[in-house]
Amino acid sequence: NPIPDYLREVLDALRDDTSGERAGYIPELAEAHPDYFALAVTTAMGSTYTAGDAGIEFTIQSISKPFAYAAAIMDRGLDQVLERIGVEPSGEAFNELSLEAGTNRPKNPMINAGAIAAHGLLVGADATGEQRVDRALELFSALAGRQLRIDESVFASELGTADHNLSMAHMLRKHGIIADDPHEVVAGYTRQCSILVTVADLSAMAATLANGGVQPCTHERIMDEATARQVMSVMAVAGMYDGAGDWLTRVGIPAKSGVAGGLVGVLPDQVGIGAFSPRLDSHGNSQRSRRAFERLSTDMGMHLLAPS
Ligand code: GLN
Repeated sequence: NPIPDYLREVLDALRDDTSGERAGYIPELAEAHPDYFALAVTTAMGSTYTAGDAGIEFTIQSISKPFAYAAAIMDRGLDQVLERIGVEPSGEAFNELSLEAGTNRPKNPMINAGAIAAHGLLVGADATGEQRVDRALELFSALAGRQLRIDESVFASELGTADHNLSMAHMLRKHGIIADDPHEVVAGYTRQCSILVTVADLSAMAATLANGGVQPCTHERIMDEATARQVMSVMAVAGMYDGAGDWLTRVGIPAKSGVAGGLVGVLPDQVGIGAFSPRLDSHGNSQRSRRAFERLSTDMGMHLLAPS
């Protein structure tokens, strides 16, 4: 098959790039094997192709954000979510502390403040912390098409150094954006970030968005089309943090990165793409994954805004 051969060729061309650093602020991630490199593509028709270290599981981290946002919309309705979380680019780093002037909303659900708020909205107003985590795990498993699990040691490692996220959660409660105990919401959000995935899980999750909310391998409808569109739009606007504009103009694939080195991208009606390599560039995006997406975009004409 030409597709896995091509994916392997992309990996081989970029393998020498050992620039960047593993995420240092989460002790367990700083210890991760730095040389892993994997790619997966799932088509909207349900075929998956992988190359490289595709069997390796890593924590989903911030790639959980668009999918938890989808769950918040399904559980609370878009209006309630928009009241608490904006859809504007932040132009700043993933952990910026600022809220939108006037509304006190986090600017979007891709920065930590917005993602913590989205996690706090899961299930319903009376939900327990455990129910919110179960909701995220159940939805991500349905999107991936297999039962996923949480890496408890990465979770514990990150929660031990979560002062920054805790301070944001306190600020969110002060402004009425979250209602529950900030410690409980941050613990739940951190568990959500510690769900283990492979690149093929990521490409399947993204392919579900590309397919308008129907998982292309199990054929299960997981969200309605409007929700999938909302999520892809926010990924295009803010998925790559302060590098979002540069990314959209050059690569043109709505995407979301995570500090464990994962990167997910989606092309409506066509494919979901997953990549993994632990070393991060100065924006906190996986260096080799980013370059692999650049290659795919150029070689395969995948820019969203290019006429077909
Ligand atoms: N769990 C990480 C955090 O909240 C996720 C950040 C990321 O992947 N960019 O800091």
